[in-house]
Amino acid sequence: MAAMTVAELQEALRGKSLSAAEAMKDTLARIARHEPAVHAFVEVYEQEAVHAAEICDAARAAGGGLGPLAGIPIAIKDNLVDEGHAASAGSRMLATYRSAYTATAVERLRSAGAIIVGRTNMDEFAMGSSTENSAFGATRNPWDRERVPGGSSGGSAAAVAAGMVPAALGSDTGGSIRQPAALTGIVGLKPTYGRVSRHGLMAMASSLDQIGTLTRTPEDAAILFSIISGADPKDATTLAGEAFAWSSRASLEGLTVGVPQEFFAEGMDAEVEARVREAIKAFEGMGAKVREVSLPASSHALAAYYVIVPAEVSSNMARYDGIRYGERVRAADLHATYAATRGALFGPEVRRRILVGTYALSAGYYDAYYRRAQQVRTLVRTDFDSAFGQVDLLLTPTSPTVAWPLGEKFSDPLTMYLSDVYTVSVNIAGLPAVSVPCGLAHGLPVGLQLIGPALSEGTLLAAAGLYQDTHPMGTTEPRLFG
Ligand code: GLN
Repeated sequence: MAAMTVAELQEALRGKSLSAAEAMKDTLARIARHEPAVHAFVEVYEQEAVHAAEICDAARAAGGGLGPLAGIPIAIKDNLVDEGHAASAGSRMLATYRSAYTATAVERLRSAGAIIVGRTNMDEFAMGSSTENSAFGATRNPWDRERVPGGSSGGSAAAVAAGMVPAALGSDTGGSIRQPAALTGIVGLKPTYGRVSRHGLMAMASSLDQIGTLTRTPEDAAILFSIISGADPKDATTLAGEAFAWSSRASLEGLTVGVPQEFFAEGMDAEVEARVREAIKAFEGMGAKVREVSLPASSHALAAYYVIVPAEVSSNMARYDGIRYGERVRAADLHATYAATRGALFGPEVRRRILVGTYALSAGYYDAYYRRAQQVRTLVRTDFDSAFGQVDLLLTPTSPTVAWPLGEKFSDPLTMYLSDVYTVSVNIAGLPAVSVPCGLAHGLPVGLQLIGPALSEGTLLAAAGLYQDTHPMGTTEPRLFG
């Protein structure tokens, strides 16, 4: 059986040409076949998933009303809590932690009938762009096992790209859904800040974190987003009202697309740029008006991001003290226990960010770093506001390069940070964006990023959907090693 999308599975399951048990058997067989080489999962809930599929089939046979995702297998990133299950955020700190409650997004998927098949690998506490910062080993890119899948939601991306599951949840603080989607040739949606509840998402940088989807098509992203989005009393930052609506479009007539000149800067691979320029032409071909725009503050966005994020990280990581959660390394007294636990169980990137963030927030440096970064944040937002006064959406590369060899940037954090240059400003401004495959460079997938004003997910996904339908790149098919 060929790997199916969420929409295809919905149709087959509703039309009874496929049972949930058969769909689950196929999913688990794919995982068994590819997981040893890809290592996308930290845990597969095999028995539970088979059992849930049987219950779903029994309910359907009994004529019960079933949710829109009934019987559909979905994977979740390891930083989303799910009652009774482990959740480790890729960290030794939480290696034996079990959740006492369930994240709202996961709860909503389950209430819609979805079957959670397991938790996917990630950079520790979502800090990273390659999934190499996981305490449980690196995930491999299904296009080339010697290359990274991107990160931090690299496990979710690789699982979808290899066809192990049709969809997965991820989280995006500075690109962690869009960049791995780009590097593995799939579709990644980072919603408007506040549109998906963060309740049950382990916080990295709370003013930027957002849960979103990794799928093979924009249509599947829309299906999942319509279920996980919406106000939640358990997350005061969620937005009330404005239910999500989506419909596919036959043309982009009437849409003006802006191309920000600052997003084609030094450090960009020439072949990646060529693919993105071709995509811009394709948007014209679909009826959109294309014009150049300028986002002058975006050249400072990355620097501001790497001050704001460590600052929030230093605060959010304070709760992992060896007393309240997870593992403990015992020492002579309470303070020594804190130090021993945190020193031993946080990986180098997490420790680095705690140190940088604490420094940036400390008296005497706050004005020079943190306040400055927040001022840049305001400028970045203002730039987007004025761009969206002239255009409906923006079109940029998602990542300046294709997937790189494992280990290449691992010991050079600044080079690793530079790979986020085109994604972070979207989080800084709280906007929605989607990455959709736009062809191959050096034989590897390239991602096109569409950015819209707040709450424009419907427009973004419709434009991405028409682009994918009319310009198939062969990248919606699951890939495994060439
Ligand atoms: N790579 C970025 C970082 O390391 C983004 C991470 C994310 O979005 N979670 O901060």
